[in-house]
Amino acid sequence: MEFSSGRAKLKQARLLGDRRELYPHSLQFYLDPPMENISLGEFESFAIDRLKLLKVVENLGVSYVRGSDTYKTKLESELRKLKFPYRALAEDDYEARRKDHISHFILRLAYCQSEDLRRWFLQQEMDLLRYRFNELTESLRQKFLQHVNLSFEAVSEDLKNELENELCTSTPGFSMNKVKEQMYYKVGLADAVDLFRARRVFIKDGFAYVPLKDIDAIVLNNYRTKLSKALALTARSLPSIQSDERLQPLLNHLSHSYVGPDYSVQKNTGKISLEQIDALSVKSFPLCMRQLHKALRDNHHLRHGGRMQYGLFLKGIGLTLEQALEFWKKEFIRGKVDADKFDKGYAYSIRHNYGKEGKRTDYTPYSCMKIIMSNPPSQGDYHGCPFRHSDPDLLKQKLQAYKVPPSGITQILELVKGMHYQLACQKYFELTHDVDDVGFSLNHPNQYFTESQRLLSGGRELKKELSNSGNSQQKSNSQESMNSNSTPTSSNRTADAELEGLEAYFTED
Ligand code: SF4
Repeated sequence: MEFSSGRAKLKQARLLGDRRELYPHSLQFYLDPPMENISLGEFESFAIDRLKLLKVVENLGVSYVRGSDTYKTKLESELRKLKFPYRALAEDDYEARRKDHISHFILRLAYCQSEDLRRWFLQQEMDLLRYRFNELTESLRQKFLQHVNLSFEAVSEDLKNELENELCTSTPGFSMNKVKEQMYYKVGLADAVDLFRARRVFIKDGFAYVPLKDIDAIVLNNYRTKLSKALALTARSLPSIQSDERLQPLLNHLSHSYVGPDYSVQKNTGKISLEQIDALSVKSFPLCMRQLHKALRDNHHLRHGGRMQYGLFLKGIGLTLEQALEFWKKEFIRGKVDADKFDKGYAYSIRHNYGKEGKRTDYTPYSCMKIIMSNPPSQGDYHGCPFRHSDPDLLKQKLQAYKVPPSGITQILELVKGMHYQLACQKYFELTHDVDDVGFSLNHPNQYFTESQRLLSGGRELKKELSNSGNSQQKSNSQESMNSNSTPTSSNRTADAELEGLEAYFTED
């Protein structure tokens, strides 16, 4: 009781300070950064929620026609779930608008750090704005346009009647009746350049005559220009942010972030036998891990980046420490490494990954974002994400070799071209599992594996196949994992930071 009345008072106090006026619209161009103090906890939770939202925007944009009923319903449901503004100018959604404002600026900081990140962030923010703008009623659109200084002059009824033939022929899909119904605006050519290029607008005396339904293209163009500039400016201020030791790890984590379980709880520990791995690599491994497994079998060796990425993945799918040691050793001694060298040089890092050496951190498997964004492979490496790091021709060959149908390969390559690497991987999942809709948003190689196993076993968990070596480890590992999972985001962060240390330390190829 006391708690809720305290929160109510706090909210009231904020409102009394006229903070509500900060957000007169449910929609904004995010021109001014937030000026209030917020806790690190709020900073992190707002940012993670926006990241979840933008990932849904990306996923929906590829899976459905933007603006279709399903697209809109799904996006609205996500906005509601994450408590962002979802209904145009709904009353009393100050908290949602505040969260929208602050979270945008936090992700702007995290996603200004490289060209790839900036492009991804810009695309998703544009799609989000497009959806929200199109949800506004006509009068609210007008208000919003005035608010962002895009108040275009409305074409008078008399002038519209005079020009109705020209307007009808220059506006694709418009009948004469439609021209009569719609408001038209006089827009400067610089603002209507996309419509002008696509020959979809009537031009007279240096003005484009744009129907209300096409105003969104202009608004988006304007927003894109502003946000691109803002991202470039923010990137320039990075050095000062990078010196802030509270913010930098958080921002780095966000731009490599995976929002979901970290697969540190190894529910399946000991349930997989070493003999199953070859078959599993074909049926249930994502392409990155299938590639690493094949390279290991072919060359009896993997370089450091590959061992880290694949070793932690295998740990995540349930290999015990004893199994991992046996697995790597058996393979390495078939190549140029003898048993003694393996024990001295390589076994340490495997035990380290399982939290048995060094700082005894129970390391978590890499997420897709981490694999895609950091440590790109060089010559002789097999780690990384094939959708991100492989040459398109090589990727095509690989997919052909894995019997992906030609039409599917074309779809995958299109997604790769648009830099939707995880969606390309989802498409690969659909094609190799013969399903129409993957039904989940892919963010983690271990998630791919779990979903594949769930599907192949008809919704059941992995069949338990205990191996002797695995059994004794299971209990202690689960216990460690439970501990490390109690604060997932911070533990991820710590693990990430410590892993960097380990990577630097263990550089032997
Ligand atoms: Fe692996 Fe993720 Fe790339 Fe798929 S998208 S290949 S799971 S890194």
